[in-house]
Amino acid sequence: MRDWHDYQAMARDAKRKGFGENGTSAKLGKSTRYKEGRLFAKNKLNALLSDYISVNRSVPDGRLPECKKKLYPKNLPMVSIIICFFNEHRSVLLRSVHSLFNRTPPELLKEIILVDDFSDLKDLHESLDQYVAQHFTKVRVLHLPQRAGLVRARLAGARNATAEVLVFMDSHVEAGYNWLPPLLEPMALNNRRVMCPVIDKIDGNSFQYEICDGNMGGLLVWELYYKEVRRPPEIRKSVKPFRNPVMMGGLFAIFSKYLWELGGYDEGLDIYGSEQYELSFKIWMCGGEIYDAPCSRVGHIERVSHLELFRRKNAPSSQKDFFHKNHKRVAEVWMDDYKKYLYRNTLYNKIDPGDLTKQKALRAKLKCKSFKWYLQNVAFDIINRYPPISPPDYARGVIQNLGSTNLCLDHYKRSVRMYQCDRKLKHPHSSQFWALSWRRDLRLKRTETCLTSVRPKNKAPVRLRHCHYQGEDQYWFYDHRAQQLKQGKHDQRCLEMLPHSKTLILNGCNNTNRYMRWNIGFFNRTALDNYNRNIFILP
Ligand code: UDP
Ligand code: MN
Repeated sequence: MRDWHDYQAMARDAKRKGFGENGTSAKLGKSTRYKEGRLFAKNKLNALLSDYISVNRSVPDGRLPECKKKLYPKNLPMVSIIICFFNEHRSVLLRSVHSLFNRTPPELLKEIILVDDFSDLKDLHESLDQYVAQHFTKVRVLHLPQRAGLVRARLAGARNATAEVLVFMDSHVEAGYNWLPPLLEPMALNNRRVMCPVIDKIDGNSFQYEICDGNMGGLLVWELYYKEVRRPPEIRKSVKPFRNPVMMGGLFAIFSKYLWELGGYDEGLDIYGSEQYELSFKIWMCGGEIYDAPCSRVGHIERVSHLELFRRKNAPSSQKDFFHKNHKRVAEVWMDDYKKYLYRNTLYNKIDPGDLTKQKALRAKLKCKSFKWYLQNVAFDIINRYPPISPPDYARGVIQNLGSTNLCLDHYKRSVRMYQCDRKLKHPHSSQFWALSWRRDLRLKRTETCLTSVRPKNKAPVRLRHCHYQGEDQYWFYDHRAQQLKQGKHDQRCLEMLPHSKTLILNGCNNTNRYMRWNIGFFNRTALDNYNRNIFILP
């Protein structure tokens, strides 16, 4: 084992002073505002500011203390770092290259390959080649003869690479200290393991390097939206790599041999989008694994106006619908019957995914498992957090006080009050129409407004707040036997109407208090009796 830190370089970095150093936020003066705005609009990041920040700037070290002491094997495979870019602002691209070059142990770095996806910016042509030749030994540029799109550009880089391990990076990143060994160690133990760093956020406006909390994992919703979700508490603060159902996108390490065994990426994916699903499903379903390494950190610039529209505008006109086409290709090949949830968006009816024979043959050849297996074993959170069909409410309609049966729970703006009950108890007008939803919150039907406990104490008032889906002060249960509305999962208090003021509070439950008893327009007894059971069953 050895300590792979480059302490000399870290000490040099610690002494650096100046604009944006240590990843601090930077700001230009008034005199350049016009130019700044123009370049901003073009790049969707503050390109002019980038020009004023050193390409060798230092970054903050957000790793857990334990990471800073960790030893890794002496023998690790060498890497080829592949950076694809299309019209990346030059100083942003160069900072990516310098930071990776500076913070990668020379013993492990075979080469850095810059794949120019047919950029039209002139300063990314010959002058980039010259810069690279002057400043580096192991860096080369591969200019593609036509726009290939991200997937085919990455594959072109991969074909050109000579090291055992390929590391893919976006063209707007900054590597953290000792970022590489934590990725390589788990791979050396199992060469079908694909590793991702924790991705810190670099603000596209100020270039501030923001340490992220590192507890988020990737997931998708049925519409193939990417979601970051909090990991369970038992693995937060752990330096052990953890499983990730969907890689975030562009930043990961994979054995070259394994990438080709998986058939690379689907080359029918155009420009950008969906490729992380294709590769993630393929890896998990066909016998591989994806892990995030908490001790490896890489900063990534999030563009400020991050719109798909922007990408589409940048795509050649024949490929304008590439985004949904890519989704459809992935769904057709990998999602089995579950693709129907994506196709609820009827836009997909009109989309031709193109020829999929090669992809389907690959899935058969590799004897990959089903999407259901993936959902049950890898991405089980999807079902609990984003069930494809919203389960029914546990209860809905008016909430009628049994101490004073003509009064029902009502609201005015964010405050809750009692009011004369609507005659239709199961289907009242909207200001009395409540739902105890499958998320176990008590919300105004068809809204995102939830009844919330203001304090975790007795005699606490309740208010309406935006539903946050996290339980706690918005967790409710209707005890239909005692006819009580209980707030909180553990220390339960009951909703009570104070008869004189007609106000509402949460108080210690008391079975003899009539004003603490409620009827709900409609409720499902069986469902309520099984309140804590998982309600969604995989079809
Ligand atoms: N890219 C490319 N060709 C394309 C589209 C994107 O080479 O047709 C590059 C882009 O320059 C970037 C990487 O692919 O380095 C990932 O794209 P982007 O950063 O826009 O994706 P995001 O990080 O926003 O998901
Ligand atoms: Mn990116």
